Amino acid sequence: MNPKPVISFDNTEFAFDYKSDKQLKKAHFLFSSMGKPWLVSFGLKVTPWAIKWNFPFTKTVIRNTIFQQFVGGETLEQTAIVADKLEEYHVNVILDYGVEGGDDGEQGFDHSTDEFIKVINYAATQANIPFMSVKVTGFSRFTLLEKLDAMMHQNPGTLMKKYLKAVDDLPAEEREEWHRVRLRMLKICETAATKNVGVLVDAEETWIQDPVDALTILMMDTFNKEKVVVYNTIQHYRHDRLQFLKDSYEAAAERNFILGAKLVRGAYMEKERKRAAEMNYPSPIQPDKESSDRDYNAGVEFCIEHLDRIALIVASHNEYSNLLAAELLQKKGLPLKHPHVHWSQLYGMSDNITFNLAHAGCSVSKYLPFGPIKDVIPYLMRRAQENSSVAGQTGRELGLIKKEMERRNKK
Ligand SMILES: Cc1cc2nc3c(=O)[nH]c(=O)nc-3n(C[C@H](O)[C@H](O)[C@H](O)COP(=O)(O)OP(=O)(O)OC[C@H]3O[C@@H](n4cnc5c(N)ncnc54)[C@H](O)[C@@H]3O)c2cc1C
Repeated sequence: MNPKPVISFDNTEFAFDYKSDKQLKKAHFLFSSMGKPWLVSFGLKVTPWAIKWNFPFTKTVIRNTIFQQFVGGETLEQTAIVADKLEEYHVNVILDYGVEGGDDGEQGFDHSTDEFIKVINYAATQANIPFMSVKVTGFSRFTLLEKLDAMMHQNPGTLMKKYLKAVDDLPAEEREEWHRVRLRMLKICETAATKNVGVLVDAEETWIQDPVDALTILMMDTFNKEKVVVYNTIQHYRHDRLQFLKDSYEAAAERNFILGAKLVRGAYMEKERKRAAEMNYPSPIQPDKESSDRDYNAGVEFCIEHLDRIALIVASHNEYSNLLAAELLQKKGLPLKHPHVHWSQLYGMSDNITFNLAHAGCSVSKYLPFGPIKDVIPYLMRRAQENSSVAGQTGRELGLIKKEMERRNKK
C-alpha cells in the first residue's frame, strides 16, 4: 500500500523551535563531522581507550559535543532541563539509564536495579515521562544470558518450553544466579506497575535475546493483564521477527495479557553479520534493507489490526513507517492519540518527525539516555556509527538543519 501522508515532516520551524541559533550551529557542526567516515572510524577506535586510561580532556570534549547532542545528562536530575523543554512542545520522554554490558558483578547489578527503580520513582512524579527503558544486560551477566540462549537452542518446543528446560538444566549455582536476575526484573516491573510507568525492555544481540524474550513475556503475563506495563522490543532487521511478533500475539491471546510491542529495525547489524560469518552460521539479519523495511511496516500493520490486545510503540526514524502508523489509524477511524499507539525517536535525531507528530496531536516521545560518560559510551558509539554516512541519516539531519538555518536567516 502507498499511504497518502496525513502529517508532513517537512516543517523545520516546528522541528527546531526548541533549539537556539547557537545550538543549531553546534548540531550542524556535529553532524558534518560525523559525515566524515575517517573521523568516525578514528573516534570509534580511540575513544574507549582514551576513556579507560583517563586521557586528559577526553571527557570534556565528549561532554561538549556528541554527549550534548544525544544524552540528557550525567545524572537523573540533569535530565529535567531537557524533559521540561520537551514538555513545552507536548513531547514526552522515555528515560534510559545508560548502563549496559553486563560485567559489573552482583553488586553492580543490584546497584543498576536500584538506579532503574529510582528512575521509575522519578518518572512517576513527572507529567511527561510515561516510560523508562531497561537493558537486561544492565542487571545480568552477559555470559550467563549467552549460555542460557545457547542451551535454549538445544531444546525442542515453544520459546517458554525451551526456556524452562534450559533454566532447569543450569548448574545449581548459575540457576540461583538466574533466579536473582528474575527477582531484579520482577522488582523493576512491580515498582513500575504500582507507579504507572511503562517499562520498555530493549533488544540487544541475537545471541542473548531468547532468555530476554522469555523473561519479558513472563513479566507481561504477570503485569499486563489490566493495563500495559511491560513492552518487549522486536527487531525487524531479523528475518524471523515478524513471525515472532505474531507468535507473541498468540501467546498474549491465549494467556489473556496485553502485548507491549516496541518495534525497531535494529542497531547491531554489522556486529551480527560479522559474528555469523566468523562463527559460520546463517546470518539472522535480513538480506537487504528493503526486507527490513517490508517486515517493519508489516509489523506496524499487524499491531494496528490488533490494538485490542497490542500496545504499539513505533520506535523509528523512518518517515514512511511513522506516517504509515498515522495513516492506518485514520483509515480505521481511530484517534491519532490512541491509548495503545505511541511514537518515539532518539533524542538528538529526527526532530522533524517528533515535533511534527506532536504538533498533529500524536503521543510521541524522545528516548533520552543519561548516565556517567563512561557508561553511555557504547550508546554514543552506536549513534556515531549510525550517523556516519552522508548518504543516510546524517544527510537527512544535515539537510533539515541547513533548511532551518536558511529559514531563520531569511527572517
Ligand atoms: C526509540 C527507539 C528505541 C530503540 N531501541 C532499540 C533497541 O532496543 N534495540 C535495537 O537494536 N535498536 C533500537 N533502536 C535503534 C533502531 O533499531 C535503529 O537502529 C534505528 O532507529 C534506525 O532504524 P529506523 O527504523 O530509524 O529506520 P531507517 O533509518 O530507515 O533504517 C535503518 C535501519 O535499517 C536496517 N538496515 C539498514 N541497512 C540494511 C541492510 N542492508 N540489510 C538489512 N537491514 C538493514 C538497520 O536496522 C538500520 O539501523 C531504537 C530506536 C529508537 C528510535
